[in-house]
Amino acid sequence: MPVSTSAETRFLVLGAGISGLAFADWVAGDDYLICEADAEVGGYCKTVLQDGFTWDYSGHFFHFRHPEIERYLVDRMQDQRVLEVMKESRIHWKGELIDFPFQKNIHQLPKEDLLDALHDLYFREAGDPTNFLEMLYAKFGRSIADMFLVPYNEKLYATDLSTLDVDAMGRFFPYADVDEVIRNFRAADNQSYNSKFTYPEGGAIQYVHALMQGVDAKKVALGERVERIDLDARVAHTSAGRSIRYEQLVSSAPFPKLLEMTGVEHDPAVFTWNEVLVFNLGFDRKGPEGVHWIYYPQRDLAFYRVGFYDNIFGTDRMSTYVEIGLRPGAEIDLEATRERVLADLARCGVVDGHELVSWHSVVLDPAYVHITKQSIADTERLRGALAAHGVHSIGRYGAWTYCSIEDNIVEARALAERFAPGAAVG
Ligand SMILES: Cc1cc2nc3c(=O)[nH]c(=O)nc-3n(C[C@H](O)[C@H](O)[C@H](O)COP(=O)(O)OP(=O)(O)OC[C@H]3O[C@@H](n4cnc5c(N)ncnc54)[C@H](O)[C@@H]3O)c2cc1C
Repeated sequence: MPVSTSAETRFLVLGAGISGLAFADWVAGDDYLICEADAEVGGYCKTVLQDGFTWDYSGHFFHFRHPEIERYLVDRMQDQRVLEVMKESRIHWKGELIDFPFQKNIHQLPKEDLLDALHDLYFREAGDPTNFLEMLYAKFGRSIADMFLVPYNEKLYATDLSTLDVDAMGRFFPYADVDEVIRNFRAADNQSYNSKFTYPEGGAIQYVHALMQGVDAKKVALGERVERIDLDARVAHTSAGRSIRYEQLVSSAPFPKLLEMTGVEHDPAVFTWNEVLVFNLGFDRKGPEGVHWIYYPQRDLAFYRVGFYDNIFGTDRMSTYVEIGLRPGAEIDLEATRERVLADLARCGVVDGHELVSWHSVVLDPAYVHITKQSIADTERLRGALAAHGVHSIGRYGAWTYCSIEDNIVEARALAERFAPGAAVG
């Protein structure tokens, strides 16, 4: 049946990832239409089932601060066993594994490294840091920064850390003061926002399926990208040749793309980010046990983190995700990089004669946005300007921020509630 070239809807939603689906699920009534550029729903929260392995687009684990949201989703997942996991994360250091976070576990370092770390922590120049790099040195001293925090974050963000805002990682950064570091020598307390996480047996996509239960699948147009938005006429033009008139537009597309689509004047140089190349690798037998993921600050290793699904599921073949931070547009030779990854995994003892029996790769672009003073200011100003035209930019990439899946749901729900009958705004 030919697609009609025009349509009208109260809410036009860009993207059927967590944010777009959560908005459609929560908004009152059914006068919405979701355009999703990809052929499937889920955004970055997709799961790949291959040769008996269950992989996500990189490890996606769930940690909820709002119990009612978790219950809301899990109640819709009756066919799923949702595993509750106490996180075990480590750092690869000189052939050994030490507990994460590095700065709270310096007592596990070899003696000379411990002395350097403790000495520099005590005699650090605290000052008043103006960027992320300065913050690392000011809070933790030279050695802790140079051993782990700087190289690890440079590998992850693929950028100069002095360009990032002091608070670029928000609540996700594991701060610790000197007292906490030293107290940890005797009484380990490595609690973090994700100390306990949940994970469905069917992979992260199960949370997407749970949201989809409240969404009318006929109102999700897959493979249809919104390409241009006329703010004054409130009409969006799509890759399927449709012109869609809307009252309100909710976008979870990356913010710089939305700015381009709407033609709003802005400085594109303000918005930078990294890409993450993920290799999901399945092996013939078990690898390291008792650990869910390991961080690698070493600059001569390709990856910054490797995770182990088999230690979450309790299965008997090593099933890993390997994350590599890249600058956007970096040329990727997949075969060569995969061989390098396998060689590096062997160098640090993760594989030892294992046979690779299945693999998959995906590039997340953008993955981690670079939060800078200017990006914070411009995002706030431009989101406000768009909202005045009925365009609401939400989600990890729509709000150009660092956040979790639950944060996306909370934000989408709050926006939907603003449009509830009787609500003050809308
Ligand atoms: C490496 C990595 C690991 C992560 N791990 C975790 C974790 O363990 N736990 C956790 O809670 N969070 C994690 N996250 C964060 C999580 O992935 C995001 O918060 C969440 O998936 C964002 O959902 P979203 O719907 O806002 O965006 P997206 O998932 O990006 O969805 C946006 C959708 O919009 C579509 N789209 C874009 N442009 C258009 C257009 N013009 N027209 C139509 N459709 C369009 C896209 O195709 C996409 O489907 C991780 C992120 C990364 C990068």
